[in-house]
Amino acid sequence: MRRPLVFPLLFLFQLLFQLLFLLGVASTIACAQQYDLVLEGGRVIDPETRLDAIRNVGIRDGKIVRITGEPLSGRRMIHAAGLVVAPGFIDLHQHAQGLASQHVKAFDGVTTALEMEIGARDVTEFLKSKQGNSLIHYGTTASYVAARALAFGAPLSEGTILPKSGFATDQAATPEQIQQIQQRLRDQLDAGALGVGMGIEYVPGASRLEVIDMFRVAAERKLPVYTHMRSAGRVDPGSAIQSTEEVIGAAAITGASLHIVHINSTCLRDSLECLSMIEGARARGLDITTEAYPYIAGMTAINSAVFNPGWREKQGIDYSNLVLPDTGEHLTKERFDELHNSSKPQWVLIFSNTQQVVDAIIPNPLVMIASDGLESHPRNAGTFSRVIAQYVREKKTLTLMEALRKMTLMPAQMLERSTPAARRKGRLQEGADADIVVFDPETIADRSTFQKPMEHSVGVHYLLVAGTPVIDDEKLVPNVFPGQAITGSGTANGSVP
Ligand SMILES: [Zn+2]
Repeated sequence: MRRPLVFPLLFLFQLLFQLLFLLGVASTIACAQQYDLVLEGGRVIDPETRLDAIRNVGIRDGKIVRITGEPLSGRRMIHAAGLVVAPGFIDLHQHAQGLASQHVKAFDGVTTALEMEIGARDVTEFLKSKQGNSLIHYGTTASYVAARALAFGAPLSEGTILPKSGFATDQAATPEQIQQIQQRLRDQLDAGALGVGMGIEYVPGASRLEVIDMFRVAAERKLPVYTHMRSAGRVDPGSAIQSTEEVIGAAAITGASLHIVHINSTCLRDSLECLSMIEGARARGLDITTEAYPYIAGMTAINSAVFNPGWREKQGIDYSNLVLPDTGEHLTKERFDELHNSSKPQWVLIFSNTQQVVDAIIPNPLVMIASDGLESHPRNAGTFSRVIAQYVREKKTLTLMEALRKMTLMPAQMLERSTPAARRKGRLQEGADADIVVFDPETIADRSTFQKPMEHSVGVHYLLVAGTPVIDDEKLVPNVFPGQAITGSGTANGSVP
C-alpha cells in the first residue's frame, strides 16, 4: 500500500533539486553580470595609490566597485585597451556654468567644475538652477564681492558675478557694513556654499581689517577662503608680493585654509617668488594651496576695478595689451575709456604673461590645474588636455602621473576641507565615485584658440559622471544630466545630496 508513494516523493525531490540547480545557475549569471558597466583592459592610473597598470573596472550604482586583473562582465562592456582610465578632472575654478561650457568641459575630461574664485551671487538660486539639468557636478563658494555690493546698496544684477567699478568697490566699508557682509556670507554658507570666494582686486576699497574679518567667517565654519588677491602689480606698494603677504597673513591670523587662485595671472613674472612664499608658509604649518592655467593671457571684465586709474603703471602693460575676444581688436586709450566707463559688462583679454613663466609654473609640484573658465577664453575648453599635450607629451616636464595628480587628487583633497564627500572624488579606487575619464594619451589635445575659444578638445573617448556616460565613443550623449551638487558642511548632510 505504501510503495506507490515512493515514486511521487522521488519525483518531488528531483523537481526540488532541479529548481535549486536552476536557481544556482541564475545566481551565477547574475553574479557574472553584477556590474552596470565594465571598463575593460585600460591603463588604470590612480595618483593616490600610484597604481599604473592594465586593469578591469567594474561600476555599479554610480560607484567603482571592483578593480582587478580578472575578467569582469557587465551589462555594458567598454573596451579601453590602449586608453588611459583615470579619475575625472576636477576644476576648482569655473565661472561659465551653462550647458555650452559643460559640453566643452566634458570633452576636456572634466567631471566636476566649481565656481570657487568669486562665488555665486545667491547660492540657493545657483543650486536650484542647476539641479536636474547639469552634465557634470557643480558647486560654489559664497561670494564676498556680491555680499559687499549688497551691503553698499548696489546689488549685482542677475547673471553678473563682478561689480562695476564705482563707489561700492572703491570705498572702505563701515564697521556696520562689515557685519552685514559677514552675516550674508554666513547665510550663504548655510545654503551650501563650499567656502568663501574673495575677489579682493575687484573691491580695492576693502581695508586690510575687512579682509581679515571675512577670513574669520570662513575660519569659524572651518571652511576655506579662495582668493583672487588684491593686486597683480609689479611695484610696491600694491605688488603681487605684498598681496600674497596679505592673504597669507590673514590665513595665519584666523586659521582659515587658503587657496590662491590663478597664481600665473596674478603674480605674473613674480610667480616663482609667490610660489616660494607659499612654500615657506606651508613649511611653517599653514594650509595654503594654489593653482594655474596654461595660457599667457588672462581675462576679466573691462569695467571692473582691475582697470582703475594707474593700472598701466602698476601692471607694466599698455592699452594695446588689451584685446577684445570676439573681434581681436587691440584697444586704444579712446576705446578703453569708452568700454571701462560703460555699465555693460565686456570681457577683455589681457596679454601680460610670458610663455617662459607659464612653463615654469605648470610643472611646480605645489600647483594644481584649474581653468578659470569663461566662454571667450580658450582656457575654458582646453586647459586640461593642453597640459597633457604640452607638458607631458611635448615638453616632457611633467609625467602623466604627476599631471593627473594636479587635475584629480590635489583638487579633491582641497575640496575635502569643505565636504567629506570629496574623499570619494579624484580617485580611481574601489568605493570611489564613478567619475572617470578614458582618453588616448597619444592624441589628447586642446583645439581652442583665442580666435575660436569654444572648439572642444580631442582624445577623450569616454567620460563617466556618477557612472553615466556623457561622452561615449568620442561623442556627446544627448539628454543625460547626471551632474550633482557638491555642497559644504553648512547644509544638513554636508555632502552630495
Ligand atoms: Zn581671477
